[in-house]
Amino acid sequence: MDLWVTEYQTPALGFSCKSSETLRIEKTPFQDLAVVVTEQFGKMLLLDGMVMTTDCDEFVYHEMIAMVALNSHPDPRKVLIIGGGDGGALREVVRHPKVDKGVLVEIDARVVQASRDFFPQLACSFSDPKAELIIADGIKYIKEHKNEFDVILVDSTEPVGPAVALFSPEFYQSCFEALKEDGMLAVQSESPFFNSEVIQMVYGGISRCFPLTDLYLANVPTYPSGLWSFTVGSKKFDPQTIRSLSNQPLKYYNESIHKAAFNLPNFVKEIIGLD
Ligand code: SAM
Repeated sequence: MDLWVTEYQTPALGFSCKSSETLRIEKTPFQDLAVVVTEQFGKMLLLDGMVMTTDCDEFVYHEMIAMVALNSHPDPRKVLIIGGGDGGALREVVRHPKVDKGVLVEIDARVVQASRDFFPQLACSFSDPKAELIIADGIKYIKEHKNEFDVILVDSTEPVGPAVALFSPEFYQSCFEALKEDGMLAVQSESPFFNSEVIQMVYGGISRCFPLTDLYLANVPTYPSGLWSFTVGSKKFDPQTIRSLSNQPLKYYNESIHKAAFNLPNFVKEIIGLD
């Protein structure tokens, strides 16, 4: 019998993958966690029924959430990741030659454990000498740190459960304060097709705190609609300009992608109020 795993991406749309095996299903203190094997995308991590990452397309999201800010900041030595308990964004951060330290603050230790158990290509980052893993609420952590980080990445779940406050203006203000005077923030900001109101909330919230705000896009096949947005807030440096290109060979990101990702379709410009 074929088993199919479905993420209900909208009340009227399901995204289904044929699955050969369920590796884990559990209720953590924060969310429902599942790891399944799919025929199309390899192993898939789901939280509260939503796809977080898969073996086959994780590189797009993880390179794009990390590399744009890391390469447009001239000296990204100390980097904070909030969320991202699978370790994929941390992997990109610690392999950047200019980074001395990557701190990851994840609320749910069970996500980290699932990654260690089933996604070694992501969890390898936890044992990197540049990495520090902290199990804590990112909201609380960020309030306790001032003027400390060059780059902050918010690799959060959708704005439900423990992640709701990660989309608030107060949180962006705390990020602003936790960054050094020329620091940069990059956050995942959902699908322009299905989550335009989230994009407006994120873009609006960040632009109220940061002098420079910009939006860029990437194609992530297993995320709702496949078209995904990221929002950057910068205190000083234009995020579209590359200043410290990492010489690592990557699978999605390169110099042309960095520049092209900021070229927005008209309907996306409209969402964020650009002409
Ligand atoms: N790339 C993914 C996406 O867009 O679907 C996000 C993946 S990552 C696994 C998201 C992580 O954010 C989850 O592991 C979740 O536990 C964590 N998270 C949610 N709220 C948090 C909070 N307040 N502090 C720290 N981590 C949080």
